[in-house]
Amino acid sequence: AFVAVEGIDGSGKSTVIQLLAKLLPKVYVTKEPSDGPVGRLIKEWALKGGSVDPHVDALLFAADRIEHYKREVEPKIREGYLVISERYVESSIAYQGAAGVPIDFIKYINKLVPRPDLTVILDVDPEVAEARIRRRGHVEKYEYVQFLRRVREIYLTRAAEEGHPVVDASRSPEEVAADVAEIIHRSVIE
Ligand code: C5P
Repeated sequence: AFVAVEGIDGSGKSTVIQLLAKLLPKVYVTKEPSDGPVGRLIKEWALKGGSVDPHVDALLFAADRIEHYKREVEPKIREGYLVISERYVESSIAYQGAAGVPIDFIKYINKLVPRPDLTVILDVDPEVAEARIRRRGHVEKYEYVQFLRRVREIYLTRAAEEGHPVVDASRSPEEVAADVAEIIHRSVIE
């Protein structure tokens, strides 16, 4: 099975996913941007201020996603793992959407990858998220409150439209992970 964990920067995705790997059997954890060539281009160039047009970001993220899915996600699903990806298509819709790329365009260029069996949204107030990011010590291109507010709005609108479960991520990582594990159990394991 294939699960995507989504949410704004500072929502606790990585921490919660690490806990999920202990709570659930046979988990394989991965993330976007990937460590493949396109993912590296995103991390080392686009997110460092190189890309001046969010459409370029949208195209790069979609290309990285196809490459990452085929190289890593699909083989692991085939081997029987529960693959948990930190970020997937909803990240592009929310972030590149918030940066001004039309949602229909983002959806179109992401038709080349399959949907996950489940997408869970970790929801937190951008002020709380920003405080967490500052404590972590690095602030990237998209990490500021105004922008994160728009990103969060899109995540929540999409969650309502698509029926993605939304989890209150203002709580401790253990509480959040327990809820997400429960949801995964109910919707993809049983
Ligand atoms: O913290 P993380 O490793 O998820 O950082 C990836 C960065 O890429 C974040 O700052 C996030 O805002 C950005 N991002 C993006 N569009 C995506 C996925 C991630 O701008 N589709």
